Amino acid sequence: MEIDRTKYKVWDKTNFSSIHWILNPGLAINELILGQRVPKITLIDQTSDRPLMERTYIPCPHCSTLHEAQTWSVQNKTAFKNWFGLFCPNCRELIPCLRNLTSGLVLLVTYPFWFWWINQWKQKWLKSQPSRYSNLNLQPIEHKNVNWVKMGLGWGVIMFIIMSLFMPVLNGTDHSWTAILINFPIWVVGGLCFGYVMKWWMGKRLKKAKTPTRPLL
Ligand SMILES: [Zn+2]
Repeated sequence: MEIDRTKYKVWDKTNFSSIHWILNPGLAINELILGQRVPKITLIDQTSDRPLMERTYIPCPHCSTLHEAQTWSVQNKTAFKNWFGLFCPNCRELIPCLRNLTSGLVLLVTYPFWFWWINQWKQKWLKSQPSRYSNLNLQPIEHKNVNWVKMGLGWGVIMFIIMSLFMPVLNGTDHSWTAILINFPIWVVGGLCFGYVMKWWMGKRLKKAKTPTRPLL
């Protein structure tokens, strides 16, 4: 698949957000438990003056479809449960995704516990995918319509549950009420900061949008 690099900026594994996805050990939980995946290639339209989230596309290398980023979103209930990769609703192949280093290590170490069943799970998962994408709402989700406070708080609460309630169980350490009481406001503030940074980042506009010199792809 050839990409028009005069129109699209390509985010691959050398992009900062991809490196963060690979290196941050906490994101192994997103990958392994929630099934959240990040594609290896993301395209940013450089000719549009829309906010970043409204000009982000994910290409399928199998059928060359340029998918709107919200094909895999919370709004469409498709942001999670993508354990085997991002399912392309057009050609039903899997769009290659990044692998978080920690989750890769966990998979390697636990290999004997899953290798026998993995193919069976994958087939079952593949079968259930088309229906998830049958009623996609691809109306552009406008940056100005997103409730960033709600999104940030939601993220903070999920992280609080994972890090303060779930992780101690996994590590075999005792729950301490003091730690829980201290951690809760920290994650609430952290969530609000996250929401604010996302609002700024996803709203980034180009100072001057380029003019395309060639057709789309
Ligand atoms: Zn495809």
